[in-house]
Amino acid sequence: MEHMKNSFKNLTSRPDFNDRFNDLKNQVLNHPEIKAFITNHASEIEDGMVERSLGKLFEFMNQSKNCEQCPTLSECKNLLEGYHPRLVIQGRIIDLQYDKCPTKEAHDERKKHESLIKSMYIPKDILAAQFDQIDVEMDEASRFKAISLAQDFVEQYNNGKRPKGIYLYGSFGVGKTYILGAIANELAAHKISSMLVYVPEFMRELKGSFQNSSLDEKLDVVKKIPVLMLDDIGAESMSSWMRDDILGTILQFRMLENLPTFFSSNFNLKQLQHHLAFSQRGEEEPVKAARIMERIKHMAIPIELIGRNRRG
Ligand code: ADP
Ligand code: MG
Repeated sequence: MEHMKNSFKNLTSRPDFNDRFNDLKNQVLNHPEIKAFITNHASEIEDGMVERSLGKLFEFMNQSKNCEQCPTLSECKNLLEGYHPRLVIQGRIIDLQYDKCPTKEAHDERKKHESLIKSMYIPKDILAAQFDQIDVEMDEASRFKAISLAQDFVEQYNNGKRPKGIYLYGSFGVGKTYILGAIANELAAHKISSMLVYVPEFMRELKGSFQNSSLDEKLDVVKKIPVLMLDDIGAESMSSWMRDDILGTILQFRMLENLPTFFSSNFNLKQLQHHLAFSQRGEEEPVKAARIMERIKHMAIPIELIGRNRRG
């Protein structure tokens, strides 16, 4: 804007003002979009309107439209990053209206999408997983089944139901976490927020500082997030305190509030029960483990994911 004003100011003080002015006016009037606008609005354009609007038209000419001159948002060359002009008739002049450009629209949409997926200690590539890009081999019936169950979940949730989550189990590297990531993305596309938590790291952090207030906050988010995904449950070494007071409390809350919860594990339900029954000190607490398992079974449908290790 400054730049343009200056060029007009310089212009008026120079002796060849008239020539330069007519030259600019010709440039403006020959600009294809301006020309088309004037033709299309011929009946509304009064005498002198174009001359009064030359400054605005000049500005229009010099701004990028539809991102044609801006490769990315941060390289946007316009006056206001992410906004492009449109010609409008405003009283006695042709004025400009600035709207969000397509790149900015897409950027804001993506930000909104990302803000719907919260995660703790989950790799970035997993958070980009999409149902329609999951590579499924012909003989992988279990992957088909898991994906179709996951898609049913999103559809039902979107229709206001609160279906059960999934307990996805299977060996290392078969793509359990990847499917959870795809569910989170599909939910976000329907404006449903979810959270993926890598359980071993979460527990490690809790152990270090159970009176840290930021962890209380984290715990609160985990309890209340509309859809929770507990990734790799069973891979942690869990103390009785973590099992009963952390995991037990989270699951109890979510079960009572009817908040869907997903799990992934290398263990099937029976193996997980065994894992939870033995505390780090080697004491056996089968009743407490059974209580947790009751909640998990109540909240999620178990599915085994079978396939090759896709890591490395
Ligand atoms: P798991 O959680 O079962 O141990 P992951 O979900 O972490 O396995 O998957 C292991 C690796 O393989 C990850 O890097 C993931 O991005 C990739 N991956 C998993 N499933 C697929 C798939 N169906 N198509 C393509 N890549 C996949
Ligand atoms: Mg995993």
